[in-house]
Amino acid sequence: MSGRPELLWPLFAEPKVLDGVGPKTAQALAGLDIASPRDLLYTLPQGCIDRRPRASVAGADLPGVVTVEVQVIRHLKPAMKGRPWRIQVEDAEQSFQLVYFHGREEYLTRLLPEGSRRLVSGKVEWFDGAAQMVHPDHVLPLDEAGRLPAFEPVYPLTGGVTQKLMARAAADALARAPELPEWIDPALKAREGWPDWRAALALAHLPQGAQDLAATAPARARLAYDELLAHQLTLALARLHRRRGKGQATEGRGQLRRRVLAALPFRPTGAQARAMDEIAADMAAPDRMNRLLQGDVGSGKTLVAFMALLIAVEAGRQGVMMAPTEILARQHLDGLAPLAEAAGVVVEILTGRDKGAERRAKLAALAAGDIQILVGTHAVFQDDVAFRDLRLAIVDEQHRFGVRQRLELGRKGQGADVLVMTATPIPRSLALAQYGDMDVSVLDEKPPGRKPVRTALVSTERMEEVVEHLRRAVAEGRQAYWVCPLVEESEVSDLTAAEDRFRHLRALLGERVVGLVHGQMPPAEKDAAMADFVAGRTQVLVATTVIEVGVNVPNASIMVVERAEIFGLAQLHQLRGRVGRGAADSTCLLMYQPPLGETGLRRLTTLRETEDGFRISEVDLEMRGAGDLIGTAQSGLPRFRVADLDHQFGLMELAQSDARTLLAMDPGLAGARGKAARLLLWLMKQDEAIRLISVG
Ligand code: ADP
Ligand code: MG
Repeated sequence: MSGRPELLWPLFAEPKVLDGVGPKTAQALAGLDIASPRDLLYTLPQGCIDRRPRASVAGADLPGVVTVEVQVIRHLKPAMKGRPWRIQVEDAEQSFQLVYFHGREEYLTRLLPEGSRRLVSGKVEWFDGAAQMVHPDHVLPLDEAGRLPAFEPVYPLTGGVTQKLMARAAADALARAPELPEWIDPALKAREGWPDWRAALALAHLPQGAQDLAATAPARARLAYDELLAHQLTLALARLHRRRGKGQATEGRGQLRRRVLAALPFRPTGAQARAMDEIAADMAAPDRMNRLLQGDVGSGKTLVAFMALLIAVEAGRQGVMMAPTEILARQHLDGLAPLAEAAGVVVEILTGRDKGAERRAKLAALAAGDIQILVGTHAVFQDDVAFRDLRLAIVDEQHRFGVRQRLELGRKGQGADVLVMTATPIPRSLALAQYGDMDVSVLDEKPPGRKPVRTALVSTERMEEVVEHLRRAVAEGRQAYWVCPLVEESEVSDLTAAEDRFRHLRALLGERVVGLVHGQMPPAEKDAAMADFVAGRTQVLVATTVIEVGVNVPNASIMVVERAEIFGLAQLHQLRGRVGRGAADSTCLLMYQPPLGETGLRRLTTLRETEDGFRISEVDLEMRGAGDLIGTAQSGLPRFRVADLDHQFGLMELAQSDARTLLAMDPGLAGARGKAARLLLWLMKQDEAIRLISVG
């Protein structure tokens, strides 16, 4: 990227400028994702070896690394080929042997002449009742002993790269690193006792023991914070940029919302009321809203969304709600229809299936403002879809989109307020990483009266019992989902599994009782199958994971998941969320194929023990790590080199508020700290942020 500040040039040179790094090593370093001195500086030692000299191996913790000054007594040539070369040495208290396999005489006698004194360091162990050091790591004449650091860093390695090379190259990279002005809030830095940037790197590359390797060590924490701050600055810049983008104040008088609330058989939960207020305030402000509505399945997002849409309608404008699939869009329409009727507003749907005259009529009504609320799939993004005055776009279940896509969406989008809804509870720190550019409303309170879903683990060997259980449930008029396994990545094999199970269950439970829905069905067939199930014409719905999100059939009270052990925790939680929505007691049967592995067992028992989506997401995070949980590649979440999202939640939170505060005080990053922050963005290769600053 052009325009990189000159101060940083030495850090972005080619690796081959570094001490001991030639073209071949440079290539090997690429295997560690090191393409510049900067990358090397952000590749920190994973460990360190205590090389502090002691008087004698006597009393040392063996086996273990010992550094000791010795007198070389004599070389014991191997009596037979294949035996090691041994050298008798003596430290201050006792004698022991240095051992070399395939030792060359010429080399060893030069390295360790008889009668000389040497500093040797290496792993000492007991062998046949005597102490020995096999292949010392270091042998130094006493006048060079100072070259051995008291603690030797241990770097991650790859083929063709040794510890010595890493240490030497890192020292050189450090020597090239300039002092940089401070971008961290001085008060925060003082409170945490963090060193300056350059000093932090120096300390992190020369750990003086385990305490310096901990993520909480001041030097490491500071470097991690720098990464998180750069990331949050990027998100905060994107947020600022979008808010400044021509937003409009949208305010309603509340008449429609009051009508809907009066018609509801329940009162909004506290969390719903809070979210509604937050959204109304955002929409009333002249800035463009960019808010995330996060709530577990069943937490009542639909009502909150609809109330937001009504604000647009009350103001005489329009709103749109987008869902990832046709089924979900239709379901939103069905869910909104009674509310819309109570309010007396016109809701229509637009999907890829709308064609010809009908589509043209809808587009005309939309352009004229006769359709007040549009529900749809990505089809509403098409160029010829024009609103008379769109004020609010709600994007449902958008957790499949990442930061990058959202930034892009924001660039393309019109001036409308944006509300993203996700039913995927993720730990707060990850929400900050992934949605840090947004404001967040959380529905952390479930509507009252919801019954727990009884969750059981069942071996596939008990398939017959499960089918029997279904037969009884069907006789009682209950409905069930049967989710088939994701056998492989391939959709074809999913399909076969689902079709096989469909035939099997039909044969056992009756032709008309069982339906089938999967992702590759023509949309019309899929909708028909769903409609049959919703209307109760079929009672068992065999499905692939297309029913994962959003689908709402209150009468369905049984969820069977086949081969549950190969599904992810979040996915299973979503699936289970499909039941427990009606009056009947609900059951979730997690069928697994034995033997169940350790992680599979942990996942399934976690589900059995809790229905709290946030708790489940924490376990998921713990088991999989942050990158995996979000899906680093698509999330746009950078791969942090020092920061560890699994353990540094707090820092991410600090970084977000720090970044937002800095931008609030200095939106152009023009002040002293702002300029330093620009350096940080360059240093951290935050191209998106740099683009946003240069756009101004
Ligand atoms: P989500 O979309 O968050 O999964 P929904 O909006 O579909 O949840 O709501 C789930 C169910 O709870 C719906 O049947 C809805 O009518 C009902 N519901 C929503 N809010 C409340 C509330 N405050 N009290 C009782 N029931 C509610
Ligand atoms: Mg929903």
